[in-house]
Amino acid sequence: MDQQIAENLAAVRRRIADAARVVGREPAEVRLLLAVKTQPVAAIRAALDAGADLLGHNRAQELLATGPALAEAGVPAHEMHFIGHLQSNKVGQVLRWATCVQTVDTLRLAERLDAAVARRRAAGGDGAAAPGGPDHYGAAAPEGPRAPGGTAPLDVMVQVNTSGETTKAGVEPARATELATAVAALPHLRLRGFMTIGANSPDGDVVRASYEALAAVRDRVLATGAPGTGTARELSMGMSGDLELAVAAGATMVRVGTAVFGARPPA
Ligand SMILES: *Cc1c(COP(=O)(O)O)cnc(C)c1O
Repeated sequence: MDQQIAENLAAVRRRIADAARVVGREPAEVRLLLAVKTQPVAAIRAALDAGADLLGHNRAQELLATGPALAEAGVPAHEMHFIGHLQSNKVGQVLRWATCVQTVDTLRLAERLDAAVARRRAAGGDGAAAPGGPDHYGAAAPEGPRAPGGTAPLDVMVQVNTSGETTKAGVEPARATELATAVAALPHLRLRGFMTIGANSPDGDVVRASYEALAAVRDRVLATGAPGTGTARELSMGMSGDLELAVAAGATMVRVGTAVFGARPPA
C-alpha cells in the first residue's frame, strides 16, 4: 500500500508539473494538498513519508480523530487545512488541529473563528508562541498546532461558489469582494486566498470557467488594496479529475484525494 501511495503521489506531481509547463507556469507555483477523508492514519502517514507536506480534512470528526496520531514524534512536519463545511459548534475543535480554514463563506463564521483565536491567545496568558509553530505540526506539537498561547493569526480562505450549483457551499462571486475585505480586516485572521469546488460538468469549458471565475475574484479583491487583502493570493482549486484545468486557470494549490489514495468507499 505504501509503495502504491508513493507512486501515485509521484504521478500526480508529474501531472501538476506537466499542466503548469503547458501554460508557461513554474511547477513550483502549484502546491499539492492531499484530501485525506476516510483514509486511515497509516495511509496518511505513508503519504507524509513519501513527501507530502500539506493535508486537508473536510470532516471535523476525522480531523479530531487523526490529529493526535499525526502530531506524534516522528511524523514529518506538515500543514493541515480544513476544507469542508464548518459548523459553528465545531470551530474550537477544528481550530486546535487546523493551520488554515479554507471554507469561510459567511462573515458570521469568520467572526466566530476570529473570536476563537482571540480566546485561545488570551488563555495562554504570556502570549508565547504555540509549540511547533503555527504553520506546521508533527513532532513538536503535542497540543496541536494552536495550543493556548499561540499568537499567530489563523490563516483562512474565502470559499466561493463559482459554479452556481445550489448544492455547493461558498459565497456567490458578486458578493465575494465584500466578504473578503471584511474577513481580511479581522485582527486574528489572515486572509490567504480563495477556494472553490469546480463545476460538476463533463464539459471542460464549463469547469474551466468556474476556475477562471475564482481567479477573477482574487484579482478583484487584490485590486481593492483594502487592509489585509495583500496576502490573499492563493487559489485553491482543482481535484483528481480536473486539476489540469485548474492549473491552467491559475491554481496555486490543487486538492487531490482519489488519484493518490484510490477510490473511497461509498459514504
Ligand atoms: C475530497 C475532496 C477533494 C479531493 O477530491 P478527489 O476527487 O478525491 O481528488 C478536494 N476538495 C475537497 C473539498 C474534498 O472534500
